[in-house]
Amino acid sequence: MHRRFAVLVTSIVALAASAAAQDRPPGQLRPRPGTGREPEFPPPSILDYKPRSTLVVPAHPVPRAKFPVVDIHFHPPGALTSADVINRVVAAMDSLNLRVMVNSSGSSGERLTQQIEAVKASPHKDRFVMFTNLGLRDIGPGSGAGIAAQLEADVKAGAVGVGEIGKGFGLSARRTDGTRLKMDDPELDPVWETAARLKIPILIHTADPAEFFQPIDYTNERWLELALFPDRRHYDRTRFPAFEDLMAERDRLLERHPRTIWVLAHLGWHANDLARLGRMFDRMPNLYAEVGAILYDLGRQPRAAREFFIKYQDRLLFGKDSFQPDEYPYFWRVFETEDEYFDYYRDYHAFWKLYGMGLPDAVLQKVYYKNALKLIPAISREGFPN
Ligand SMILES: [Zn+2]
Repeated sequence: MHRRFAVLVTSIVALAASAAAQDRPPGQLRPRPGTGREPEFPPPSILDYKPRSTLVVPAHPVPRAKFPVVDIHFHPPGALTSADVINRVVAAMDSLNLRVMVNSSGSSGERLTQQIEAVKASPHKDRFVMFTNLGLRDIGPGSGAGIAAQLEADVKAGAVGVGEIGKGFGLSARRTDGTRLKMDDPELDPVWETAARLKIPILIHTADPAEFFQPIDYTNERWLELALFPDRRHYDRTRFPAFEDLMAERDRLLERHPRTIWVLAHLGWHANDLARLGRMFDRMPNLYAEVGAILYDLGRQPRAAREFFIKYQDRLLFGKDSFQPDEYPYFWRVFETEDEYFDYYRDYHAFWKLYGMGLPDAVLQKVYYKNALKLIPAISREGFPN
């Protein structure tokens, strides 16, 4: 198994190297030892080199969050119409101190109603709320009004927000005339204004980490991830807009609808440049962001991240994205402790270690649940401190 994986990766490496070699001088493809000396043994690949840390420091793993948590970016491992799915998820939630999950695999119409009914009929009715989704494809004249009407109906049926709007919106969704659908297309204005009137949050994921839009070479921080997942490679400008063009388009959308409550998934992919997100928060009072899948960026700048979380404590929400119960404790540990140089859970996100931010309790409480309760008043107060 390990060997076959290694062979596969080796051939991917060779492929990527030969692809990159076409537009880069070959010298840049070689790892540099830094001393002017060549290694006496063949250097290991980044997959094989896993040095054991010899650092001895206190370690405080956190299996259970210090305060109850609302996860605003949750994709259930199956429809919540299944009692088995509900029971399995709740068992994991209880051990992690996740109090409420926001189903951001939004569904609409009958599928939405079925899930709401199933949760209501279960012994766990207070533990889940539902988002709806929007049909943001094949947009033409009149689409906006139709989507807005569906949104209104779904909210009447019990949806408490919109999301997750996926990265396809911006990256690949089209208008009926075949052109790329711009996120700030005026046809969709009635949708965003309806959400504003209904005072419901919109969880929106735009683009992907900036490195996914760059060539796969040995200076790319996400080289391994890009080598593993073909559908994350967005560097071909004939097929995809540039990262900054998507960000500019997203920002125009947000600024055009200042009364709409926007929640940027993954800190808007600005976790590697928190000052940039801070300037957006300063400019846009109705903007929020959640921390799903970017822990590696917080954990490598614990001091700057701590300051940022304190400054913007009213704008940040907890979200995880993929539901892997054993991964949540890494978030608790980064947020709650001042531990140093500990492992992260996914080597293709980050080849570095994490450090704890040691957030004050008051900030933890806002990020874990208070801000979510404010944005989604329909969440039951049961199980949260007063
Ligand atoms: Zn998601």
